[in-house]
Amino acid sequence: MPDTMLRMPRRSAVFYYQDRGTKLTSLCLTVSLLLLSQNMQIKLTFLGAAQSVTGSCYLIEAGKTRFLVDCGLYQERELTGRNWAPFPFPPESLDCALLTHAHLDHCGLLPKLVREGFHGPIYATAATTEIAEIILLDAAHLQKEDAEFKRKRHQKEERKGPYPEVPLYTVDDARASLSHFSPIQYGISVNIGEGVEATFYDAGHVLGSSMITVKIRQNGEERTILFSGDIGRWDKPILHDPTLFEAADYALVESTYGDRLSEPLEEAADKLADTINATVKSGGNIVIPSFALERSQEILYYLNQFLIEDRIPHLIVFVDSPMALSINQVFEHHPELFDEEMTKFMQQGSPFGFRGLSLARTASESKAINQIKGTAIIIAGSGMCTGGRIKHHLVSNISRHKSTILFVGYQAAGTLGREIVDGAEKVRIFGQHYPVKARVVQIDGFSAHADRDELVKWLSSLRQPPRRLFVTHGESSVSQHFASLVKDKMGWNVSVPEYKSQSILD
Ligand SMILES: [Zn+2]
Repeated sequence: MPDTMLRMPRRSAVFYYQDRGTKLTSLCLTVSLLLLSQNMQIKLTFLGAAQSVTGSCYLIEAGKTRFLVDCGLYQERELTGRNWAPFPFPPESLDCALLTHAHLDHCGLLPKLVREGFHGPIYATAATTEIAEIILLDAAHLQKEDAEFKRKRHQKEERKGPYPEVPLYTVDDARASLSHFSPIQYGISVNIGEGVEATFYDAGHVLGSSMITVKIRQNGEERTILFSGDIGRWDKPILHDPTLFEAADYALVESTYGDRLSEPLEEAADKLADTINATVKSGGNIVIPSFALERSQEILYYLNQFLIEDRIPHLIVFVDSPMALSINQVFEHHPELFDEEMTKFMQQGSPFGFRGLSLARTASESKAINQIKGTAIIIAGSGMCTGGRIKHHLVSNISRHKSTILFVGYQAAGTLGREIVDGAEKVRIFGQHYPVKARVVQIDGFSAHADRDELVKWLSSLRQPPRRLFVTHGESSVSQHFASLVKDKMGWNVSVPEYKSQSILD
């Protein structure tokens, strides 16, 4: 806003009161208006991932500009009702949305936002845009199946569920939201409103993931808000390390693992090689339930490396997940996002195309895997065994004591994956019971999130404490724990915002 426009109302107020001869009042009024106009007027509302880990969504109002950072789906069972609630703002009033990355808990409500009237651009990196297309279309398909399944079950049980038995959004809704994506590059600022500018930086979490700074200029003053997005780990394969920042007036930091330390990556890799070798000796298969984005590519990276170094025998590796295969292609489109090691590695051949790697796209290709005799590595989704092709491979392997079920990701309570990890003696798959005789191994070190010390490392790069740090994206007790740690260790002004709470950033 030009300065002259701001001075206008101050002058007219002074003249109005001077005409009446109340000089003191006019002076006070002038001073207070002056202060008001010089103050920054930025409102930040926490609409998700506030004392929870999913549903990331922040609303920022700066002068006339209103925008969201992320618009994610709620996935924690007790919070999914929020997915069905109307947005607590009119979607058509927003100028744009900024998307940190393509995980569903960050982008999963964008189709609903667009269907309900949002018409602005959605800024994201090109890789995030490509991955979001795969993820959102898949989510729409799953929601359709889910709604159909619930409708039939409720009909059979002659009852009604708490939410409508229709998909939260359709494939058409997802497609409509994709047309709003506007890809931008790391480090290049984009103007998103009068005096408001956003810049994306590599977060090292998943391919294309971002941290975002928003610079707001009002009345000759400037404030920078730093959104951490999900922070990756240092020295992870394939991706660059998370970006470090030297200054921010306000910062939001995720805290998924704010209360724990992760197993070092080398240890996790050693465990992976040892598990494969032990299973080869016993003559069974290695079945790896894996998330399609990032984890599958990381496992392929390690397998390729082990093969090059002769750390494991030359086995057939199946990737039985159409979604993982599509995401592999996005990785191959974006070599500019790879770290130095991966770039060197690519010169010896892509980890997504090594000898012995077999890709199963169709259902018949998937079924053929079960005919293989001898040891094979089978990577399939879903990562927590809640659906998808992994269930068929579990049916074939879970009761074979020679085989190994190898978990490389977090298993949420209430999932089949968690049951197996927790040592269930038998499990139910497709309505039948199977005794668990296979070896069950879990490796924690492949986490995509910074652990407690890595979060502190990221914050410590700021040369001066921000005016306030908001700890978000974590279970309530974990966020509180991390906030106390930063308060005690660094003496910063820290808060853990509640869902729907609002902060004025001055
Ligand atoms: Zn994420």
